[in-house]
Amino acid sequence: MNDNRIQLIDRDITTLKVDVIVNAANNSLLGGGGVDGAIHRAAGPELLAECRTLKGCATGEAKITKGYRLPARYVIHTVGPVWKGGGEGEAELLTSCYKNSFALAAEYNLKSIAFPAISTGVYGFPKQAAADIAVRETRAALKADPDLEKVIMVCFNRQTRHAYQTALAQK
Ligand code: ADP
Repeated sequence: MNDNRIQLIDRDITTLKVDVIVNAANNSLLGGGGVDGAIHRAAGPELLAECRTLKGCATGEAKITKGYRLPARYVIHTVGPVWKGGGEGEAELLTSCYKNSFALAAEYNLKSIAFPAISTGVYGFPKQAAADIAVRETRAALKADPDLEKVIMVCFNRQTRHAYQTALAQK
């Protein structure tokens, strides 16, 4: 019943009309490449202006801003770990990204949320291990929060979709 509220979608996250999209940001919160650059381009300069007031974000933490020109009302900026081989707490830090993002969404009473595959681009986190963490934390959040209506996992490439499908097939 909880998995009914999880959707895999192959589109650009900046096009999604949800309460909140999650940005895989960096510690500066001042924009970057990948999904971060796409979100800043689509949201417009007002997003960067608000991000400047936040004074950065630690790895594993999350901060929220408005969505400005995006169809999404809010953006949660979370900073995933750079993969360094797995012995530097990377799994725990990625887990924290999901937990802190869901906690902020609940605090702001947001009912639909879309995530990119945090850390699996230039930060190099193995895609299957990252998808396993994303699905585990999403199921925990859905179980804890009956008011959460929809969690979208954005699959920007085939390997990411495959990793999520594999993770979802395991109970
Ligand atoms: P990180 O630095 O956390 O690894 P990246 O932006 O490099 O972040 O990649 C994270 C994931 O986001 C990757 O799976 C990448 O393919 C995906 N991605 C890149 N652009 C977009 C986009 N516009 N919408 C959704 N996902 C995207």
